[in-house]
Amino acid sequence: MHDLSGRADFDLAGAILTIDLAAIRENYRRLRARLARAACAAVVKADGYGLGAIEVAKALRKEGCRTFFVAHGSEGIALRQALGPEPEIVVLNGIHSGGEDRSAAAGLVAVANSLAQLAAWRETAGRLGRKLPVIIQVDSGMSRLGMSRGEVGDVAAANALDGLELRAVISHLACADTPEDPANESQRRAFAELTALLPPAPASLANSSGIFIGEAYHGDLVRPGAALYGINPTPGHPNPMLPAITLQAKVIQTRSLDAGAGVGYAHTFRASAPLEVATIALGYADGWPRHVAASAWCDGVELPFAGRVSMDSIVIDISALPRGRLKPGDLVELIGAGQDVDEIAARAGTIGYEILTGLGRRFNRRYQGA
Ligand SMILES: *Cc1c(COP(=O)(O)O)cnc(C)c1O
Repeated sequence: MHDLSGRADFDLAGAILTIDLAAIRENYRRLRARLARAACAAVVKADGYGLGAIEVAKALRKEGCRTFFVAHGSEGIALRQALGPEPEIVVLNGIHSGGEDRSAAAGLVAVANSLAQLAAWRETAGRLGRKLPVIIQVDSGMSRLGMSRGEVGDVAAANALDGLELRAVISHLACADTPEDPANESQRRAFAELTALLPPAPASLANSSGIFIGEAYHGDLVRPGAALYGINPTPGHPNPMLPAITLQAKVIQTRSLDAGAGVGYAHTFRASAPLEVATIALGYADGWPRHVAASAWCDGVELPFAGRVSMDSIVIDISALPRGRLKPGDLVELIGAGQDVDEIAARAGTIGYEILTGLGRRFNRRYQGA
């Protein structure tokens, strides 16, 4: 794939992030198989949750995905340049003041989260003398983005959509990963009431977890992100998705420690017996959470961290491996079969979303199954 440059990258990088596009495509197919009649979009904001929005979107185009959601106009324009004119690219946060003309020129669909955003987009359409596509987001109970009930009433009453083409009405669930939470049903009802006040348009409510609550939440279009990237959309139950990444780090050096030797900053680890350790080329600057005492893996053997995570390196205890198994340049696994993204997130007191989107920019990145 990346031939010479990819190889050079590998030689110069400390860690290797492999992104399995075939797994992401399979995850898309698995989600779509749960839908009776709704279409399936893909959320590729934050550079495809850190995995590469352009590569992911190109792969999902091959599965027939026609609608991509990003958060910012800048992300939308970059994606448009990569994908060409066909797919629908929707900007969830709406178009910020001053970004309207470039967003219109790139053929982006603006989400109008407020009457002010709607008015600015309408004004742009008028000035450009052509219809512009818009999606209205309504607040069904998350209190984050979207029009209030009063604003929706104003849209319905005035000619607020003149010059615009209403592509969809959307809302977002606050508690989708806990399906038994009554907030889901109350948001579903509020959404149905609010859409009924607006001109007929496709309805979209469900993110990844929302798809798994049930068909009543699917509407006409679902908007999964996390599940495509292998994050478990059904926390507390087995993950129905395939893992999409592996992260490996290179061994920089190995050493034998005497009993009593202190390891790393503040000597938070002390060898209680003679020990073999390796220093690997990955640290918190690569998005690895500093407070997580996790492990690396090699040949299915768990190699616990010894001491603090540094900015660019971590010391691991390799005593469980045959002596000489790991040499400088060899790879150990940080994310993969041994521990997945959700597991690391749970240990770090966060969610897989934050781990993925925080993954660093200096890895050797490899795309498989393109
Ligand atoms: C991020 C986002 C999604 C995707 O959510 P996942 O939980 O990653 O599936 C869908 N809709 C909106 C409005 C979002 O902000």
